[in-house]
Amino acid sequence: AQEKSGDPFAALNPEQRQAVDHDIGKALSQQQPLLIVAGAGSGKTNTLAHRVANLILNGADPQRILLLTFSRRAASDMGRRVGQVMQRVLKLGATAAPPGLPWSGTFHSIGARLLRDYAVQIGLEENFTINDRGDSEDLLGLLRHEMALSSTEKRFPLKGTCLAIYSRVVNSRDDLSTVLNKQFPWCREWEKELGELFERYVDAKQEQHVVDYDDLLLFWAEMLSDAELAQLLGARFDYVLVDEYQDTNRLQADILRRLKPDGAGVTAVGDDAQSIYSFRGATVRNILDFPQQFSRPARLVTLERNYRSTQPILAASNAVIEQAMERHTKTLWSDKVSSQKPQLILIPDEVEQARWVANRVLEHREAGMTLKSQAVLFRTSSHSAALELELIRRNIPFVKFGGLKFLESTHIKDLLALLRLAHNPNGRMAGFRVLQLIPGVGPATARKVLDQMAIAGDPVDALQNFTPPANIALEWQAFADTYDLMRRAGRQWPTDLNAARDWYLPQLEHKYEDPVARSADIEQLTQLAAGYASREKFLTEITLDPPEASSDFAAPPYRDEDYLTLSTIHSAKGQEWRSVHLLNAVDGCLPSDLASGNEAELAEERRLLYVAMTRAKEHLHIITPQRFYVTQQTPQGDRYMTAIRTRFITPRMLPHFEHSTWVSAEQNGSGTPVPDSVKMLVRQRAKNAWKKN
Ligand code: ATP
Ligand code: MG
Repeated sequence: AQEKSGDPFAALNPEQRQAVDHDIGKALSQQQPLLIVAGAGSGKTNTLAHRVANLILNGADPQRILLLTFSRRAASDMGRRVGQVMQRVLKLGATAAPPGLPWSGTFHSIGARLLRDYAVQIGLEENFTINDRGDSEDLLGLLRHEMALSSTEKRFPLKGTCLAIYSRVVNSRDDLSTVLNKQFPWCREWEKELGELFERYVDAKQEQHVVDYDDLLLFWAEMLSDAELAQLLGARFDYVLVDEYQDTNRLQADILRRLKPDGAGVTAVGDDAQSIYSFRGATVRNILDFPQQFSRPARLVTLERNYRSTQPILAASNAVIEQAMERHTKTLWSDKVSSQKPQLILIPDEVEQARWVANRVLEHREAGMTLKSQAVLFRTSSHSAALELELIRRNIPFVKFGGLKFLESTHIKDLLALLRLAHNPNGRMAGFRVLQLIPGVGPATARKVLDQMAIAGDPVDALQNFTPPANIALEWQAFADTYDLMRRAGRQWPTDLNAARDWYLPQLEHKYEDPVARSADIEQLTQLAAGYASREKFLTEITLDPPEASSDFAAPPYRDEDYLTLSTIHSAKGQEWRSVHLLNAVDGCLPSDLASGNEAELAEERRLLYVAMTRAKEHLHIITPQRFYVTQQTPQGDRYMTAIRTRFITPRMLPHFEHSTWVSAEQNGSGTPVPDSVKMLVRQRAKNAWKKN
């Protein structure tokens, strides 16, 4: 139909169309900010992509459009959608629009790019590096220790908690005492010391030429509070569009407002029912406040038609979210009729659950559904342990998203620390880690050398001139030479990486039981790195948006293979599959025991269930294992704990589901306990599942 009418936007419904056409053709100075609030699967992201295409087709310069998404994956997905729309239009023989694509990325990655461009103007060293969360925690831990706050009897908050508090203060724009009262009441007694610690922390980052994740937003916001820089930065973009606005925090809203005080050219889309990041300081208030936050009033568009899911899936999802205390956007409808209700499956235990899911996945594939059009979702990364083992056993390829990241493994961290230290010799956390890789070097020596490197004119000289204990003189020299090579090769990427690898690889053998697998990881990392233009670009990218699985690194043929997606619900945001399995729909897992402390936390867990259910297009299976095996006997001497269906699916909702109780053909149905050896294997395999072999 759209080919005939010659209208590239003919497939859109009237409301989507309004959003796509909003203020098109008006001078920028006349435009109103636009807010699209709508439920899951109503085409928000799709509408945003069409709007970008429409802007470009109407003469906007792609390089002056900023598209903010919540992950690198979402950014590239959006780029693809924009490209598709443009291509359709070009085929129709409309204008010969430039095929360029807008600036897109997360708030953090765009912040990092801008910070690189303006570093010198705002007094940052040009060679600054970005500390990841682990480095930031370690730095706080070190300072905490230096300030003698860390002795156990004092019960001062742990380094991870310190970082969480600091991060909350920065991102929420609340002051320390408010944050302590609201989110960390058990740390209130330490307000004074925490304040001092954070001051030291900020100074240390400055001295070491490092920034942390929060700084990427903070510096951006602060640059925008300077009139002159704000002019420069604001003028850089005509249009700013933000997806998943319900999961932004106050600082991000501030950035948006300072970037475009009158709101001209700003579009935000979101769904309050899908807010799932408030544990990190995101707030739905941003959506509520949007209409008043610019000097011009915003236009509001709502979408109510769901194009993703069948009617029965939607009805069940609506029933779950309707129970929420707060008011949510209007109920969605769909015209995709289906006689199949979502399934609620009662199963004896986790191991049976894994078998059941694997069977169903294969059945779906027989019926013509590729593995790629199916997903298995879970609340917490560890919930997929038994399933991963089952999939490996049965040769069903899968990729897991969320949870343990490739970069969190020590050998990868070591290599990246080497690169960071070559880039920025003042970065103490990287230095501390790297120097202790030299056989025979401990913390005291490392500290001494780092002090000398910091004051020396040339850090390489400081290394060369240091006199190590005689028994490690050779090892010391080998490292000093490698570092020298890396510093000198700094502009010849990836020569420096190769030097680091050659020095580091032989160490694996003495350090780890699985040197082969680890050196394969390092080879993969090296290959990936070669694709980047410079060390700096590589380090920034990889720190900000770490690959989630080693398969992210794999060569295209592997990635193009058909595979099943395993994902935490958080990482599944915005996506859709023909078939979705939800594991462990029991109290304690969803809602998670760790997030059931108060009403607000429970409400967020309920929204998580809603997000999971609304990923499904045609088939939704929600599974409730009745018992979980435990490694330690309970006081009653049991080897297992019984579980009950998640409280979010109440008896009143049951008519929305089809019910089945599954009894294994291979077992007697009583859920015979699995031998300990198998359980150990499950845990072990699950721990390593992100590695390819
Ligand atoms: P979520 O809240 O989960 O992020 P969303 O509102 O962003 O969802 P999209 O992902 O943009 O929704 O769209 C959901 C599905 O509906 C996609 O497959 C999309 O292609 C399809 N869709 C959106 N609008 C239309 C339309 N007008 N006609 C046909 N299909 C549509
Ligand atoms: Mg979306």
